[in-house]
Amino acid sequence: MDKQQEFVLRTLEERDVRFVRLWFTDVLGFLKSVAVAPAELEGAFSEGIGFDGSAIEGFARVYEADMLAKPDPSTFQILPWRGEAPSTARMFCDILMPDGSPSYADPRYVLKRALGKAADLGFTFYTHPEIEFFLFKDSPNGRKPVPVDQSGYFDHTPHGRSQDFRREAITMLEAMGISVEFSHHEGGPGQQEIDLRYADALTTADNIMTFRVVVKEVALGQGIYATFMPKPFTEFPGSGMHTHLSLFEGDRNAFFESGAEFHQSKVARSFIAGLLRHAAEITAVTNQWVNSYKRIWGGGEAPAYVCWGHNNRSALVRVPMYKPEKVQSTRAEFRSLDAACNPYLAYAVILAAGLKGIEQGYELPPGADDDVWSLTDRERRALGIEPLPQSLDEAVRAMERSELVAETLGEHVFDFFLRNKRTEWEEYRQQVTPFERERMLAVL
Ligand code: GLN
Ligand code: MG
Ligand code: MG
Ligand code: MG
Repeated sequence: MDKQQEFVLRTLEERDVRFVRLWFTDVLGFLKSVAVAPAELEGAFSEGIGFDGSAIEGFARVYEADMLAKPDPSTFQILPWRGEAPSTARMFCDILMPDGSPSYADPRYVLKRALGKAADLGFTFYTHPEIEFFLFKDSPNGRKPVPVDQSGYFDHTPHGRSQDFRREAITMLEAMGISVEFSHHEGGPGQQEIDLRYADALTTADNIMTFRVVVKEVALGQGIYATFMPKPFTEFPGSGMHTHLSLFEGDRNAFFESGAEFHQSKVARSFIAGLLRHAAEITAVTNQWVNSYKRIWGGGEAPAYVCWGHNNRSALVRVPMYKPEKVQSTRAEFRSLDAACNPYLAYAVILAAGLKGIEQGYELPPGADDDVWSLTDRERRALGIEPLPQSLDEAVRAMERSELVAETLGEHVFDFFLRNKRTEWEEYRQQVTPFERERMLAVL
């Protein structure tokens, strides 16, 4: 037994932990949990806990149903909303096949593999997400949701529901070792943003999974409802998960080069070029729902075109202005993904696209300093600026042809994901919508 495992077993006694929840994530990004008694943990560390993989979305075909969940002791945390002594804890798990090899269906393993590739090239991948979501007065139950307030960007409202909510959620995140850098009201009524401090991408992905649970729990506790749905309203902006990306070599930021244009290293420029060249094929993963495409059509400060810029908030990739006192914070902000993605898979394909740019020495096209939304289609074409996929259907078609995504996700996850998303699209496109009835029934 290693030191971390011993630490966990000791803490179980000291903190009177009665239940340990073992967490993992299915291919679509839903959290799965099995609670074990503390006495079972030694066995879980050495052999894992068995479960039926065929019952988990994307995990296995029935004939290879047995799988094992093996807790990662470095992720041990007490769950603050379950109370103290007796208390409840959680650990994220790696998923193993019965022979002990890593499961090819485990999203955490997909990301670990991609990070391993970065490590082979000498890089650590850091990410810092800005997570947006809406708060409603109660659970929607199919009705049109009512936001908790009518405030907007950076508003501070006396007696505001929103700041009370953010304070409680952030206190809980900090208690679980997740540092929060900024938080504020976002543009839509009831819409919030909470930004996590940068961390290596595996930690960030685990933190995002925890974040979604914490936000849902705090909302339930306050008698309101939280959603990460990318675009709940036609008339208000959607919720994204802009993520700031950087590569480090040891403790040196590999995106920074003193004296270079914009202090941007060749590594940074090729990485961003990779993000742009492969943007269309990775979009089904970063924006995985039919509803995701209602957000990235060209409004509400969400990106809709494949380009990069410095101060351009309509660009897919934004390079924040260089701050001399913050050399290590040179980074690129990737703005298409939304918080309803599977963060492990999304960060894996984003990293793979950037690394491809570095490996192949892609040239970065000129930045777009105009507001790309306000250009005409013809002007955009002249500048070589393509739109992002405009529907889940288009995104799936681009992904199908992608060697990069197939290689990064692995054959099993790639095939499952495409099959699942084609079905979602087929079901969606058969729907006759209120829009059609309202516009057409009376006149046709
Ligand atoms: N909500 C916007 C989006 O969907 C972002 C708004 C902002 O952070 N400037 O991407
Ligand atoms: Mg922000
Ligand atoms: Mg924002
Ligand atoms: Mg941002």
